[in-house]
Amino acid sequence: MRELLRGMRKTMDRVRPPRMTALRQLHEAEDGPFAILIGTILSARTRDENTAKVVRALFERYPDAEALARARVTAVERIVKPIGFYRVKARRIIDVARIVVSEHGGRVPEDIESLTGLPGVGRKTANCVLVYAFGTPAIPVDIHVHRISNRLGLVDTRTPEETEQELMRTVPRRYWLEINDTFVMYGQNICRPVSPMCGECGIRAGCRYWRDRRRDNRRGAGRARGGKKRGDGARLLERRVGGLGRKARR
Ligand code: SF4
Repeated sequence: MRELLRGMRKTMDRVRPPRMTALRQLHEAEDGPFAILIGTILSARTRDENTAKVVRALFERYPDAEALARARVTAVERIVKPIGFYRVKARRIIDVARIVVSEHGGRVPEDIESLTGLPGVGRKTANCVLVYAFGTPAIPVDIHVHRISNRLGLVDTRTPEETEQELMRTVPRRYWLEINDTFVMYGQNICRPVSPMCGECGIRAGCRYWRDRRRDNRRGAGRARGGKKRGDGARLLERRVGGLGRKARR
C-alpha cells in the first residue's frame, strides 16, 4: 500500500498537480470537528470548490452548533444555495446541529455509532469525520475509493460498504488515514470514471484493469488479423467497470 500511495502522488505531481479536496482544506484550516461534519454533509454530490466556500460563509454567520441550531431554515438555505440539494441539506444540517447540542453537549461525537445516529450521516460521512476531524484511523469509501480499489484489484466488490469492509480487512491500519484523500484526488484527476489516464498512470503495472484491457486489446488485434470481429471481453470489462460507478452512485 505504501508504494501504491506513493505512486499515485508521484503521478499526480507529474501529470496534474491536484487541488486539495474540500475536506482536506477544512482539515488544514483547522476548522474543527463541527465544521468538518457539516462540510462533509454539504459536500455530497457537489463540487469541492463550492463546498469549501459555502462552509466558510456558513460559519461566519453561525460559528458553532448552538448558533446553527437556532438558525432559520430560509436564512441557511440562502447561504448554502450554491450547493446541490441545498433545501434538503439546509434542513439536515440544522437538525444535526440541534441533536449535537441536545444530545452531545454541543460537541461532535467521536465514535461511529453516535455519528451514524445523526440524521443523514451514513458510514462514509461518519468515517470522514473520524479521519479529517479526529485523526482516527478509518476508511471513508466514496465512488472514487470504490472504483479505484476495484480497478486495481485490491477488492472485488459491488458496493462501497463491501469495499470498506474488504479494505479494513486487508490494508494495514497505519495507511487508513491516507487512503481517502489520495484515492479521491486520484479519482478526480487520473483514474477518472470515464477515460482513465492509464497511459500516464505510474501504478498501472499493478492494476488489474490495465492488465485486462491490454490482454483484451491483444486478443482483439489477433482476431482482427485473423479476420474475425473484436471479442466480447473488452466490452464486458468496460461495462463492468462503468457499472461500478453507477452502482455506487445509487
Ligand atoms: S492503470 Fe488506469 S485504471 Fe489502473 S489505476 Fe491507473 S488510471 Fe486507474
